[in-house]
Amino acid sequence: MLILYLKEFLFKGHMNKKEKIYEGKAKIIYATDDPDLMIAYFKDDATAFNNKKKGVIADKGIINNAISSKLFQILTEQKIPNHFIKHLNEREMLIKKLKMLPLEVIVRNIVAGSLAKRMGMSEGDKLKRPVLEFCYKSDALDDPFINEDHILVFDLCKDQELINIKNQALRINDILVSFFDVQGIRLVDFKLEFGLFKGDVYLGDEITPDSCRLWDKKTNEKLDKDRFRRDMGGVEEAYQTVLNRLVKQAS
Ligand code: UDP
Repeated sequence: MLILYLKEFLFKGHMNKKEKIYEGKAKIIYATDDPDLMIAYFKDDATAFNNKKKGVIADKGIINNAISSKLFQILTEQKIPNHFIKHLNEREMLIKKLKMLPLEVIVRNIVAGSLAKRMGMSEGDKLKRPVLEFCYKSDALDDPFINEDHILVFDLCKDQELINIKNQALRINDILVSFFDVQGIRLVDFKLEFGLFKGDVYLGDEITPDSCRLWDKKTNEKLDKDRFRRDMGGVEEAYQTVLNRLVKQAS
């Protein structure tokens, strides 16, 4: 561990970007000189409905890199293990290389999206406690909904890892609900992805308006990717509003 902290300290600011390791829908991941560290580059590309809808949101990569950096920093202060090390520049952050688990972990506070459909409810009802859901991360299968038995029977992760994931997801929810609340934003639901670093469960991926539902507390205006999914317009402005409120609160 001490060696890793030393490496992070030494490499901050002059980390060489090497070959592309992976390109996803919203980010490109690059190797660095250090096998434990990678660089995440945030793109402007937007997709929805498992790639069936595609588009570009101007400056989304810059805004999402800033939002995700800020939220990971808050989680780090609250001792949530996560991959974030440093905001490097407008579109890039330095991260730890995790061995990602093939799971999407969804945390819900208010009924919306697929839960509203599944339960035949209208969007906006507050849940009496947070609800956790899991999807198997597979584009080919459309990220199917799965339960804890499936996760363990199909060896998607170990028993103790699942316990840690659930505990961390609920703690992250508590931290983020309070943080957004101060800025007049309701954290309706969001998606997390976890991985393993030296055998421990760490939060990876991103936390942005691409992966969260964020509603203005007073007006219920949507400040997230639903504006893109539902062709509502004002997508970039909504993302910028979230960033402005985060920055305002920070200063
Ligand atoms: N979500 C995501 N990626 C996905 C699926 C869902 O980031 O592949 C997020 C989504 O933005 C929302 C939450 O997870 O904040 C719950 O999404 P839901 O299951 O309602 O599906 P959706 O209606 O977004 O298809």
